[in-house]
Amino acid sequence: MSGAAPRLRLEAVRKAFGSARAVDGVSLAVGAGEFVTLLGASGCGKTTLLRIAAGFTAPDGGRVAIDGADATAAAPAARGMGFVFQSYALFPTKTAAENIGFALRVAGRPRAESAARVREVAAMVAILPLLDRYPHELSGGQQQRVALARAIAPAPRMLLLDEPLAALDARIRHRLRDEIRALTDRLGMTALYVTHDQEEALAISDRVVVMRDGRIEQEAAPADLYLRPASRFVAEFVGQATLLEAEIVQGVPQALGIAWPLAAARADGPCLMVLRPEELAADPDGPLRGIVESARFLGAMLRVGLVLPCGTRIAADLPARHLRPAPGEALALRPIAAPALVPR
Ligand code: ATP
Repeated sequence: MSGAAPRLRLEAVRKAFGSARAVDGVSLAVGAGEFVTLLGASGCGKTTLLRIAAGFTAPDGGRVAIDGADATAAAPAARGMGFVFQSYALFPTKTAAENIGFALRVAGRPRAESAARVREVAAMVAILPLLDRYPHELSGGQQQRVALARAIAPAPRMLLLDEPLAALDARIRHRLRDEIRALTDRLGMTALYVTHDQEEALAISDRVVVMRDGRIEQEAAPADLYLRPASRFVAEFVGQATLLEAEIVQGVPQALGIAWPLAAARADGPCLMVLRPEELAADPDGPLRGIVESARFLGAMLRVGLVLPCGTRIAADLPARHLRPAPGEALALRPIAAPALVPR
């Protein structure tokens, strides 16, 4: 790390609405060029935190700094940030080109320079042929591309995106998600992104900040968050998991009556095992024997629900091509990876 100040720093930020503590003391830094995502369930305070960073909402306490300079009281326009909202927020009576160029015109850029920049950013988000259309003549995905182009046109210091894909259908959502990340990479753009969709957060981010009740529960790179959740809450919120009561005995996790592989050293004692479906494989000699309760075909794999003799239910993702266990059949599984462990 260089000694440079982060692009955005939030320090002990607080905001209450009446008695509801929407943001309850959050400190967070976003480095230049970094893509950070705020992930959490509805009402956890992620939008409020983003609005505080943007300057749309004044915090009750704490500090906002941009490139090392205090910006806690700065107006949104003075922060040099670009915004993208779930609702697109385009001017309905302006064409795509006029929407994209609006901030440039307001900033007093010469007409020819603005027009060239509009075409440049429109090309980046693949909407050049649509520049003369009005918002009602564009699909949701196209409108969000216009909004994205509008946000990057003035070359902002960073982008703030509030659930930008939530209103789009799955296919467009996946495509635009990848394009947004490719675009910020290409431009070296810093981004703070809000979503409640854990899959989207894992796919798009350098770092994911999991929020719960106005606080940060865990922040980590996507793979670390998934493979090494710090708490039961994160383990259940991110990815699919069965939580099992476990005990470390002489350095080896014991759960469901068997010894499990262990990735990292851990002190003896009780804990919870975070068993993911892909950590099990079918094996006639496997130690986990049960009865198939459900088998859902998911295309790439079959998600099998197994009931063990002790009554515990576990899920396993098995290759769907050859193996088709049906409900009521006996099946044996064996662990093929070390599950994460979290405190009870
Ligand atoms: P969502 O995904 O539903 O938008 P969120 O995680 O973004 O949720 P916030 O919108 O930040 O959460 O809201 C956090 C809490 O603050 C909620 O309890 C919400 O009801 C409350 N809240 C947010 N904005 C206001 C407001 N302007 N007035 C009153 N309460 C508010």
